[in-house]
Amino acid sequence: MFEQYQLPYESNALEPVLDALTVETHHGKHHATYTATLNTLAEKAGVADKDIVELLANLDDISDETLRTGIRNNGGGFYNHNLYFSTLSPDGSREPVGELKAKIEETFGSFEKFKEEISALALGQFGSGWAWLSADKDGNLYLSKSANQDNPISLKTGHTPIFTIDVWEHAYYLKYKNLRAKYVEELFQIVDWDAVGKKYEAAKA
Ligand code: MN
Repeated sequence: MFEQYQLPYESNALEPVLDALTVETHHGKHHATYTATLNTLAEKAGVADKDIVELLANLDDISDETLRTGIRNNGGGFYNHNLYFSTLSPDGSREPVGELKAKIEETFGSFEKFKEEISALALGQFGSGWAWLSADKDGNLYLSKSANQDNPISLKTGHTPIFTIDVWEHAYYLKYKNLRAKYVEELFQIVDWDAVGKKYEAAKA
């Protein structure tokens, strides 16, 4: 049984960056549906007891093509949104701290340059998808983007995602309409870098 990440804040807590209706629809409908569908499909495929990372990293083990595709999409939707919502918060540091801060500066030159680079990936993703910050076991950082609900796990990059930007229109359209760039820019006001830093520590371990 895969359990959806529950928001430790009210649906209006991320305003004005993300309005309550967007959060309610995104988490309460889209993410909830990916989770419920994943559970149904995983039961059918006999993989309901797997860890989600293990499952997404070994999709080829699912022989039935319809189940495999469904688990790739809905398992991705489950995993990606758990990461997305767990790194957004009305609280927390608005800039990287500690080891992650140092590594971002070493890798990208500065936090501002990092934001520019990941934002360019988010804006350059044609259609629905995601932009990613991932780490390997040595603590090296990587940026990437993906279409649909794919992620660095299902794409077998060998890296662990620690932060992501959802650029599906459902993530921003109610408030920002066609202005994806504005949404991405504003989103940094609600990123919880304490949470991202913990994910970085776990990815390196
Ligand atoms: Mn989404």
